[in-house]
Amino acid sequence: MTASDVINPATEEVLRTVEQTDEAGVDDAVARAKAAQKKWAAQAPAERAAALRAFASVVELHIEELAALEVANSGHPIGNARWEAGHVRDVLQYYSASPERLSGKQIPVAGGLNVTFNEPLGVVGVITPWNFPMTIASWGFAPALAAGNAVLVKPAEWTPLTTIRLGELAVEAGLPADLFQVLPGRGSVVGERFVTHPDVRKIVFTGSTEVGTRVMAGAATQVKRVTLELGGKSANIIFDDCDLERAAATAPYGVFDNSGQDCCARSRILVQSNVFDKFMELFEPAVKGVVVGDPGAEGTEMGPLVSKAHWTSVASYVPDDAPVAFRGDAPTGPGFWFPPTVLTPQRTDRSVTEEIFGPVVTVLPFDDEADGIALANDSVYGLSGSIWTENVSRALRVSRAVESGNLSVNSHSSVRYSTPFGGFKQSGLGRELGPDAPLSFTETKNVFIAVQEAP
Ligand code: NAD
Repeated sequence: MTASDVINPATEEVLRTVEQTDEAGVDDAVARAKAAQKKWAAQAPAERAAALRAFASVVELHIEELAALEVANSGHPIGNARWEAGHVRDVLQYYSASPERLSGKQIPVAGGLNVTFNEPLGVVGVITPWNFPMTIASWGFAPALAAGNAVLVKPAEWTPLTTIRLGELAVEAGLPADLFQVLPGRGSVVGERFVTHPDVRKIVFTGSTEVGTRVMAGAATQVKRVTLELGGKSANIIFDDCDLERAAATAPYGVFDNSGQDCCARSRILVQSNVFDKFMELFEPAVKGVVVGDPGAEGTEMGPLVSKAHWTSVASYVPDDAPVAFRGDAPTGPGFWFPPTVLTPQRTDRSVTEEIFGPVVTVLPFDDEADGIALANDSVYGLSGSIWTENVSRALRVSRAVESGNLSVNSHSSVRYSTPFGGFKQSGLGRELGPDAPLSFTETKNVFIAVQEAP
């Protein structure tokens, strides 16, 4: 086993050294998970439900601890981190209702009785990114466990600490040993082995489109099931009939939340040209008002970027001659700080077409509804987006026309555990969350029982 340092992105100090799982370690974990899954699936649905509720209760007792760990490891503002830990509890609570509701169907057929069963897949591998470590892990592990599977989670190299802690809390809550295991390690080792191991029956991958494509290609050789949650370049479409003050005041939080390291970031603001100047006037103080600083301080709205490597990548989108309209503030000194930055480039610039995944937003004018929709759809991605208008017909027309999985009208909301989440086009495949998520961790089995005619 090798080990890897985990860095606090606000101070650049080493927080902890984490052992990296090797291929033999993955194989051992899969064998143990396989045995645990058989026993778990054989338990009564009510027992599995109770176990997930107990897990949720233990998470509830550790919200402050998990939040503090995320502040230190990921630089998330404490208020956000508390929300994330609470969200894990809520996701577990929500899916604890599923074991007793996966009831299959009874379908009327001639000559007998036809029923379907929702059989668990077996061992599921969940591969997570570094931007929302514990929430994204829970979107995979909670419904997968609820459907009777065992789960192995591979957290991102930079941010494994909260996921490792969730693995410990599961054991503390009384979940069977080996049923839910966290395997920190490299994507090219642990992630790849999930893809090639024949006993891992499904991969839930959240991360870049580049790696997701590779995971999908590898999984295809075994017809392995995949759910992919990938990149985004979402549009915030602002029409001239909207509440422009509210649209401008909220736009920074639609893109700079989590320092822009959010797959749903509305990183292209599209403004109808007749209100463009007025919008920019209102947007400037809103951007400058974003509170950037110590993520552990109450009231901080934006922390640092996650790592030096990522900082360098984000900075490459703002060269010296970049069309900067205005910028907010950021601390100087240690830490991977990057100020909120507003660009007004051409439609073809790479800052408009590529996912930056940092606090950099591009603002572009559009002429009319058709032009706004065309511009919003001019992307390989289709994850999220917002539409600002007071006209209900327009809101519905544009919602139907934008090629995206998660839209909000007059708000920037994307994620609720009770509603489906996922992307169109190269933003992903399949959906997470919502009432149907456990079904995506099952196979439908159809059984026909012949009934003899009465003698
Ligand atoms: P990434 O693709 O570099 O890594 C994601 C995970 O894949 C990590 O755990 C990594 O170790 C692992 N990995 C790397 N190589 C692998 C391989 N060959 N086989 C298997 N696994 C491998 O992504 P990232 O930089 O951690 O995250 C940022 C990206 O995630 C952004 O593009 C963002 O949009 C996307 N994202 C999408 C969603 C969504 O729900 N659609 C949510 C969050 C983040």
